[in-house]
Amino acid sequence: MTPGASLFAEPPDHRLEDLHERLLAYYGRPVERERWDPLTQFIYSLLSSRTKTEASHEVLRNLRAVFGTWENLRDAPVAEIEEAIRAATFPERKAVQLKTALEQITARYGTLTLDFLASYKTEKIREWLERFDGVGVKTSGAVVNFSTLRRRAMCIDSHHLRIVQRLGFVPKSANARETETRLMEMAPTAWGPEMLDEHHSLVKLHGQRLCLKNEMRCERCPLLDVCAAGGARR
Ligand code: SF4
Repeated sequence: MTPGASLFAEPPDHRLEDLHERLLAYYGRPVERERWDPLTQFIYSLLSSRTKTEASHEVLRNLRAVFGTWENLRDAPVAEIEEAIRAATFPERKAVQLKTALEQITARYGTLTLDFLASYKTEKIREWLERFDGVGVKTSGAVVNFSTLRRRAMCIDSHHLRIVQRLGFVPKSANARETETRLMEMAPTAWGPEMLDEHHSLVKLHGQRLCLKNEMRCERCPLLDVCAAGGARR
């Protein structure tokens, strides 16, 4: 026994690696994400909450086509922004949140960019982003992990939250912040930003294909023998 090691030390938890390997074997490697600058990722993530991925991409394309630059988007009337993001959920609310956030970023930094965040530590970036109305832990996690900032974080969207709750990795009452904290404790320290991104993409894909919000296709699921919710249905 290693000197100083406790007889009662917790055994290593490999459940996240096991989950990753099973999903990778089942779905194959996800298509690599197009990496955006932090501001573009921020705009996309703010608009994409509770909106399907295809619709979110359509909204971003539409914003670029209608306004040309993010400065034009910031300066546009709320009604025009609302019209351009109509394919997203809650366009009235998101149009106000988006315009306000872009104005506040400009006011705080002097110009409309989030590139300066690259010089901040990850936790400071997330705190900075989460001060904006409509920005929570999911959006801040997406910006730091998916964008060119490329930091260690796990984006917990509604698919990810639902699946790890069903698997029993976190309690059913856990929110996105508590879930991310727990999953980051479980994630191997060797998993860098790219691996954490791939892990999220696989879990999200599973939530879109087999472990849907209103339908659990457990009979075909590669996780059935390790899943609390799936096991309870057998
Ligand atoms: S076994 Fe069922 S509930 Fe569990 S992850 Fe698979 S589809 Fe979801």
